[in-house]
Amino acid sequence: MLDIRWIRQHPEQVQEIAEAKGIEVSIAELLNWDDKRLTLLQETELLRQERNQLTPRIHKLLQQGEAASAEALRQDVKELNEKLSRAEELLHEAEEEYRRRMACVPNIVSPDTPKGRSDRDNLELKRVGDPPAFDFKPKDHVALGELHQLIDIPRGVKTAGSRNYYLTGTGALLHRAVQQLAVDVLLEDGFTLMDVPLMVRTEAMMNTGYFPLGQDQSFQMTERDRWLAGTSEVPLVSYYDQEIIDVSSPIRLAAASLCFRSEVGSAGRDVHGLYRVHQFAKVEQVVLCRNDPEESEQLFQEITANAERILQLLELPYRVMAVCSGDMSQKTYKQVDIETWMPGRQAYGETHSSSQLLDFQARRSNIRFRDGEGKLHYCYTMNNTAVASPRILIPLLENHQEADGSIRIPAALRKYINGMERLAAA
Ligand code: AMP
Repeated sequence: MLDIRWIRQHPEQVQEIAEAKGIEVSIAELLNWDDKRLTLLQETELLRQERNQLTPRIHKLLQQGEAASAEALRQDVKELNEKLSRAEELLHEAEEEYRRRMACVPNIVSPDTPKGRSDRDNLELKRVGDPPAFDFKPKDHVALGELHQLIDIPRGVKTAGSRNYYLTGTGALLHRAVQQLAVDVLLEDGFTLMDVPLMVRTEAMMNTGYFPLGQDQSFQMTERDRWLAGTSEVPLVSYYDQEIIDVSSPIRLAAASLCFRSEVGSAGRDVHGLYRVHQFAKVEQVVLCRNDPEESEQLFQEITANAERILQLLELPYRVMAVCSGDMSQKTYKQVDIETWMPGRQAYGETHSSSQLLDFQARRSNIRFRDGEGKLHYCYTMNNTAVASPRILIPLLENHQEADGSIRIPAALRKYINGMERLAAA
């Protein structure tokens, strides 16, 4: 959420950002409803004061035996109450209209964000590692998964419908191994590991900026105000919802959790294999800090470097992309994606997404800190993937395959998988 006073001073700029991010919201209408709600707020306050002044006067008149005058004032009170309840209804409507629009206002965009409409306009910042040059016809992860009995998609679909899968035997061990490796990298960097609730209230989704615009991406539990979180960023940030916290040192939180996504709007896209599924596991990094843009940028570099370190430990070639304005979500100020080379797709595929939010999320969640003089400010927040599996298994299996069908396990992963050095071809 942006500060309404700031929006008032920069209406055109905010409208432009909404258009760049493809968000339908009229800033002129927002400001109109804000005006209306403020006028009505004043009006109701005045009516209330006027009415409240009459009550002691009625008592006094009654004490003085002036029943007729008291009755006349009672009529005035009745009229004022009617006026007040009409004004309160209008105020309620204006508040709702204001809130509905305010919830859709996008965050501002960093000056170094490339301008553009879609991921085609994202800017490559660097490449690390070279895609392998196979001297044999490489298999994709689905074929490798079948060969080594790691992945069972047909049975996943039988049990749970499309975009579902089972990981079996060593497949399931690899899935846990990459997550534990990522957790250990984050622990080394001073992160606190959390185990988090994944069935969260609407408020948590709203306050972290996932609702209202991303609501169709989430699965709702029936008969309860609960949603399956699409990322542990929601419960991690909401941990401090409505609190005043100490960020004299940045707070680094991590969680390894399941994530659930409806993938509405992706019909027909990435239907092969494990790339886009309804349920996956993600180790997530969330950082809360002071409202200092320099500190925020530094920490953003740190959480991006953590993701790179994990990819380097997995010995995978990747590239880092500056995400353009049109490919960023409502809440994002600055975003860097990491795409890892996937031989089966003959392309880099997104495996990590690092976002800076400034105080957008904290303002919605009312998470604040006190500065040295005791003044309250909203915190800054940011987040990044550490690893998401099974998507990461795609490049892991595909890049490390060898001519005989065996798959080499990168050295850093072996201790998490019983010392296994390779998956031998059957
Ligand atoms: P996000 O939380 O949307 O920034 O996504 C972070 C990472 O989670 C992505 O870079 C992917 O590695 C992974 N991911 C997101 N959506 C899916 C999905 N539907 N299926 C599998 N992995 C996903």
